[in-house]
Amino acid sequence: MALLSARSTASRTARRATLGALLLCAVLAARAFAQTDAGESAARPGAGCPAGTTEVRPGACRAPQLPPPSIVDYRPRSTLVTPTHEVRRAKYPVIDFHGHPEDRLGSEDALAAMVRSLDSINVRMIVSADNMSGQRLASTVARVNASPYKDRVRVLAGINFRDVGPGWAENAVAQLEADVAAGAVGVGEISKGFGLSIRKPDGSRLRLDDPALDPIWDACARLRLPVFIHTADPEEFFRPIDYANERWLEQALFPSRHYDPARYPSFEQLITERDNLFRRHPKTTFVTAHLGWQANDLARLGKLLDELPNVYTEIGAVLYDIGRQPRGAHDFFVKYQDRVLFGKDSFQPSEYPYYWRVLETRDEYFDYYRGYHAFWKLYGIDLPDSVLQKVYYRNALRITPRIPQAGWPK
Ligand SMILES: [Zn+2]
Repeated sequence: MALLSARSTASRTARRATLGALLLCAVLAARAFAQTDAGESAARPGAGCPAGTTEVRPGACRAPQLPPPSIVDYRPRSTLVTPTHEVRRAKYPVIDFHGHPEDRLGSEDALAAMVRSLDSINVRMIVSADNMSGQRLASTVARVNASPYKDRVRVLAGINFRDVGPGWAENAVAQLEADVAAGAVGVGEISKGFGLSIRKPDGSRLRLDDPALDPIWDACARLRLPVFIHTADPEEFFRPIDYANERWLEQALFPSRHYDPARYPSFEQLITERDNLFRRHPKTTFVTAHLGWQANDLARLGKLLDELPNVYTEIGAVLYDIGRQPRGAHDFFVKYQDRVLFGKDSFQPSEYPYYWRVLETRDEYFDYYRGYHAFWKLYGIDLPDSVLQKVYYRNALRITPRIPQAGWPK
């Protein structure tokens, strides 16, 4: 009995000592976080600084003494002085594989104005990815061919994904053949609505890898038409719009760009279906637009290109991701130099020179052309001439045999 009591006293003492040590640690930790000057508050371990404050020393948070600007008004002017090389015209003639000329193909005057813009930036050919088909495609091609600019424009054919079910494929293939006879050189831009929102007659979502679509992809292989396809959107559009979201401002400016998980498939679901589609049709050439929305994870995009030699990609509207990783992007473009096409997307002649500067120079820390995509600066990735030529025109020529192959620099 006495022995037992002595034992329990000893273990009680040990427990007390452990408890005391733990308490001391907690107090020390709390003090470390609480050692703040007047006007400062303590960061909460694991949670960072409270709203409205910023961490000024480890664990100490301070609020600005001036009224802070809103996110839209804070535009710090860089004081960095480094060599700058504006590139007005691309070093080699360019095929813009992701063009949206829209009304600029509507009359000879509009065409002439567009070609003047293209000349000023050295874009020799714009590929219209405006999803045209039928009469509109035929009359557009006829107008271009009757103009002095017939070598400056080519047109992709659209596919109508409504009412996919019995009889759909026969009609779609017949329409595609007619569009090719009228002058289409490829298919696209298949819009992001394919996968995100287009439904079948029974109300179910049309998956990208739906077997009912197989005949159209097989027809593209038979007709040697590259398929230009935009799948999903930046991954941040599928995530909660909180203050850690890299695209908070963009989604606040354009709320329809956000995809509520209650209504839309996830980014991963869409990418999985897309890759299934590419895998299912190894004889069909696919060009995944916008670096497949994986420009922020080039190693993952590289894996896709490694696995599937029928897949190519295009750089429209993701310059902000290329230019923020100049070493990684340089190595990616060199490694996959036969798989990457130039494309711009939105037709803004003043924006192309940003692409030339990122692709061709070693410039550092310069502005991007939109104020809401990227909260960082860009760097040049300094591609070798042989890689530039492939990205600018050679790869597009190679995968699009219906584009005239003569007249380009060797
Ligand atoms: Zn587009």
